[in-house]
Amino acid sequence: MLVKTPRSVLAFSPGSRSEPGPVTFQRATLKRLDEAYKGFFRRLKAGGKPGFPRYRGKGWFKSFGFRQFQGITLKEGRLRFKGMPGSLRVHLHRPLPDSEIKSCPFRRYEKGWRVSFAIEVECAAARPVARAVGVDVGLTTFATFSDGQSIPSLRAARRAERRLRCAQRALSRKVRGSRSRNKARRVIARCHAAIARQRANHLHQASARVVKAYDFIAVEKLNVNALARSMHAKAFHDASWSKFTDMLAYKAARAGCHLVEVDPRNTSQDCSGCGARVPKDLSVRRHECTHCGLAIDRDLNAACNILSRAGVGPGLRNVAAVRASVQAESSVANGPDHEPLWAN
Ligand SMILES: [Zn+2]
Repeated sequence: MLVKTPRSVLAFSPGSRSEPGPVTFQRATLKRLDEAYKGFFRRLKAGGKPGFPRYRGKGWFKSFGFRQFQGITLKEGRLRFKGMPGSLRVHLHRPLPDSEIKSCPFRRYEKGWRVSFAIEVECAAARPVARAVGVDVGLTTFATFSDGQSIPSLRAARRAERRLRCAQRALSRKVRGSRSRNKARRVIARCHAAIARQRANHLHQASARVVKAYDFIAVEKLNVNALARSMHAKAFHDASWSKFTDMLAYKAARAGCHLVEVDPRNTSQDCSGCGARVPKDLSVRRHECTHCGLAIDRDLNAACNILSRAGVGPGLRNVAAVRASVQAESSVANGPDHEPLWAN
């Protein structure tokens, strides 16, 4: 909480005459204040628009938390806080690992509160690389793999667009400050929350399957800033690739799986068979090499390039296998050695 005057600072410091609240609460608040100022000075130094930290009233807060798990007990599904009467019932989504809880942030969402427990877990030992794959993310297909598999895109926001549009129109008709406006606002918030939930679910499932199916994953390093400003920005945000790669990163680390980010330049232009550059527009969905005659899907070609750029794995051999299967006019929908990643 950003406090404005020295007097209000006094009010929040321990030992003052007014009720200071638990010290652990204030630590999290102080940390926020510190982060806000650190960000301000970092931006000032970097020469960007600095953006002085704004005053944040209590209505701004969606979360609070305890940076240390002290004076709090979690026993038999109930959270107890030292110095506070009663306890909170917690619906645990899954059993917690048997190690020390580091912190527990609370976050308000549409229907109530969520508490997360941060726990330190050991990383698994690195797996031996038996199955390597290159992943190309796209808008028409969410992810294409160098062995020919793919994950379809969800387009959660696109699907919910109509509902959202109606809700937004309803809101704009309401008188500002009225009770019905507040109701309409909550409808929109629920709509956005539903989209976010669907998207997160899709990304969690996709990344978990990839980490389970492969030992070595090569992805392209995304230039997020450029993509977010491009003409496909809306679709880009809906696809949320960066969230996907973030999830891949932590899931891979936990499972001992290798993840490599490669330079994305010209992955879709270069031929994965002979390396020649074959320029093509975004609308050209098929890669047809004029040099070696390789003709495969555009995204598949990019995925093969990503794998070979990672420097590991039989990138060229993969392409040869793909070419053979294309020539045999058989579908490459299923990988050779494991179950399909995505059923529908
Ligand atoms: Zn070629």
